[in-house]
Amino acid sequence: MGDDDGATARDEGASAMGTETHTAGQAPDGQVPDESIPRGLKPFWNKPVSELVRLDEPPIAEPAQERHRIYSFLLAAVILNYWNGNKYGEAGDYGDWRANQLLAAQPRLYKGGSYLGHNIAALAVDAEGRIIDYDFNHNDLFDSSVEHAESRLVRRVFALNQIYEPWQVDGDSPKRGRGGVPQRQEHKVFATSLTDRAERVTPRSAEKVASGYSTLLSDVTVYTSLESCAQCTGIMCLASVKEVVYLQPDDSQFLIGNIMRRTTRAQGPGFIAPRPIAGDEIGFAYFRDLAEGNRDFGRRVEHEPFYQNGVKAVKTPSVTSYLCTDNAYQNFAAASAEVNGMSLQHPDYRPDLVPSALTNQQALAMATDFLTYVKSVRNRGTSHRV
Ligand SMILES: [Zn+2]
Repeated sequence: MGDDDGATARDEGASAMGTETHTAGQAPDGQVPDESIPRGLKPFWNKPVSELVRLDEPPIAEPAQERHRIYSFLLAAVILNYWNGNKYGEAGDYGDWRANQLLAAQPRLYKGGSYLGHNIAALAVDAEGRIIDYDFNHNDLFDSSVEHAESRLVRRVFALNQIYEPWQVDGDSPKRGRGGVPQRQEHKVFATSLTDRAERVTPRSAEKVASGYSTLLSDVTVYTSLESCAQCTGIMCLASVKEVVYLQPDDSQFLIGNIMRRTTRAQGPGFIAPRPIAGDEIGFAYFRDLAEGNRDFGRRVEHEPFYQNGVKAVKTPSVTSYLCTDNAYQNFAAASAEVNGMSLQHPDYRPDLVPSALTNQQALAMATDFLTYVKSVRNRGTSHRV
């Protein structure tokens, strides 16, 4: 719910300029009638943008930060395992930006092959800490600008839930097994935990069961390697994703995640955008390194083209180009290495209100198991359109 003081446009008045071209709902004197201001924007209408983007969330305790870092390091390792950096093809000159990834370079980081999408991926984790699935950006594979990791992942999880119906479940359901046969399909295809185990947890969860898909993911945390865009924030909002942890900021997305979080909470009941959690809020040290690496790339690329082939020279300060560079690779490699070497300070921690949750120690074990699985898949996430 809203946590702001509810100041309105009338209090401070709008500029008198531009009254000849006033928009619908705007009075001739330039002021906007209170009833015309969208509910979620009312608390911010005459405040600076800095107020709109400022998150007002409780701090994350160290044991929970450590838990977030486990999945963040895992996500870095998933990306590193399926790294592709040849954004403009194998032929051509990438200068010094990715000298260690050229096919002829030694030591060789890049194994060759088609560029399938940007080095951006996302991971979905349920309330118990169980990993549901991952997916990559597949823009190039589908020749599309909207096949982003988070939106693909959310649509995929919905699809998984849609096609799988457990026929053998607990309780007094007509599907209850007979003849003393042990129940094997307690969960749906994935466990959002509070949702699936409503009768054992809280009354609030029971409401979720009744409300179906709109709250199916309301206990799910999405980890994404790059701050989410408007599309992905919108999809995660409509999916009621609980929170989104991002490993690198993306200034080009104008803090849309923060804006949607603030405005959806201010408008009251309904869809609430996920809480954005920046990597530096959870002690993910590479957040700053990736941000600085990207800024350095942006400063230098105009004079040191990212790519040229005799016909064109690419000088655009694009974050997805930065994510092809050796600097980005090295940051992901360092973060990835921490999955195996992580020494937990809070091994027995589990989230409040979720007694069935994995401990941090168990979550770390699951993360290393999951990485083994990801490596065995031998493709860059799901290749289908969802
Ligand atoms: Zn996106």
